[in-house]
Amino acid sequence: QQTNAALMARRKAAIPRGVGQSHEVFIARGENAEVWDVEGKRYIDFAGGIAVLNTGHCNPEIAQAVKKQIDLYTHTCFQVLAYEPYVELAERFNALAPGNFAKKTLFLTTGAEAVENAVKIARSYTKRSAVIAFTSCYHGRTLLTLGLTGKVAPYKTGFGPFPGEIYHAQFPNAAHGVSVDDSIASIESILKNDVEASRVAAIIVEPVQGEGGFNVAPTDFLERVRALCDQHGILMIADEIQTGAGRTGTWFAIEQSGVAPDMITMAKSIAGGYPLSGVVGRAEVMDAPAAGGLGGTYAGSPVACAAALAVLDVFEKENLLERSRSLGAHMVSRLKAIAAKDPRICDVRGLGAMVAIELCKNGDAHQPSAELAKALAVEATQRGLILLTCGTYGNVVRILVPLTASDAIVNEGLDIIEASLAAIA
Ligand code: PMP
Repeated sequence: QQTNAALMARRKAAIPRGVGQSHEVFIARGENAEVWDVEGKRYIDFAGGIAVLNTGHCNPEIAQAVKKQIDLYTHTCFQVLAYEPYVELAERFNALAPGNFAKKTLFLTTGAEAVENAVKIARSYTKRSAVIAFTSCYHGRTLLTLGLTGKVAPYKTGFGPFPGEIYHAQFPNAAHGVSVDDSIASIESILKNDVEASRVAAIIVEPVQGEGGFNVAPTDFLERVRALCDQHGILMIADEIQTGAGRTGTWFAIEQSGVAPDMITMAKSIAGGYPLSGVVGRAEVMDAPAAGGLGGTYAGSPVACAAALAVLDVFEKENLLERSRSLGAHMVSRLKAIAAKDPRICDVRGLGAMVAIELCKNGDAHQPSAELAKALAVEATQRGLILLTCGTYGNVVRILVPLTASDAIVNEGLDIIEASLAAIA
């Protein structure tokens, strides 16, 4: 009989400590929104592999599509021998992405790689080099995407220097005193103080900041970023790696603002647990790099493309966009009821089923408490619920439960949050 403790000891001896671990749990099996560890203990999974399992663990339709694919072929490298699932998936995303213009899609493997490629494409199209990102944003762990990422510890510490010509504007955050006006003014200030607009290739923005704490970008902010981009010939990139694949109630979160970005990066839940990422964008922009300029050995793996096609089918068949909206509304209303009686919860927020609570000391939103968030996650794990924290101050607890989870499981998870909060009082 294996134990989590014995496996943790082997993990520590064999694997660098830089690969963090939120929970000292080794999984044996997963099914939809539940997992079982190697000791047979059951957990409800509100983490979903960090937003990867919108369609749940081991979704049978996705598993079937993958099994069918691996009996045909598993790898050719798309640049060597092409295959239809890649093309079909591109066609489907081209039709799904907002914007009344022709689109094309490129597939890659990880989210960071999608962001890297979006920046490469933006530079190639605009023949400009600079990129503006936002405070508390997260775009990945490669050197360019770390440069874009707006959080030093633990991501950037010790890893610099990062590529140049990256600037950070303020992300709007009403609760913490940054208005949309402030945020737009900070972009304008960068264009005055740091780099001329004619050298800026792109502004990259998450419609809801994920790692940064589930901060929802106000619609007028997104509209004004779009207008600024149009004014200066800058491309707008929406990073939907965490917000996409229906998490927020529409396939892409930015659809809800009516804004059409020039490019959208996607990854995580698009392939239901298989490594796949992509960039969908304006066709003429996507066509800027010359032949051979884009790609990767595993980029757009046929197995992952088959999984992603099945994900899209599951969304349609099970009406998961509607489910995302109703589930989100239900979770927010239950969490608000808990917050009404608990001053440690200073905010409940989200978009669709991308929902989080923010924890603070003394009922004061200006005293963020990472300790409380951590204590809640630890207590919940003991009680059989996997939760993740996030946020610039580490004081946000987020919910990324599979959209396929039953009401009973979601309520059981919410009950554990309520009981855990009571237990750590
Ligand atoms: N962008 C966003 C918005 C993300 O949330 C993430 C992952 N948390 C990434 C980029 C990087 O994706 P990956 O870890 O697959 O490289």
